[in-house]
Amino acid sequence: MAKQLRCADIVPGCDYTAWAETEEELMELVVAHARSAHGIEEVTPEIAEKVRSAVEEV
Ligand SMILES: [Zn+2]
Repeated sequence: MAKQLRCADIVPGCDYTAWAETEEELMELVVAHARSAHGIEEVTPEIAEKVRSAVEEV
């Protein structure tokens, strides 16, 4: 099992998909993407919660 997150579930229109073996790795990818692509410097608890609820097992 791996974890996948479609950024479009959080930021409509974004075609980025993060994929990792663990939720920790996935969060790192998502944080890096959020910063570089969306200018989100700080992942607030609210954003982190959205990310967690959008994670899918693949
Ligand atoms: Zn995105």
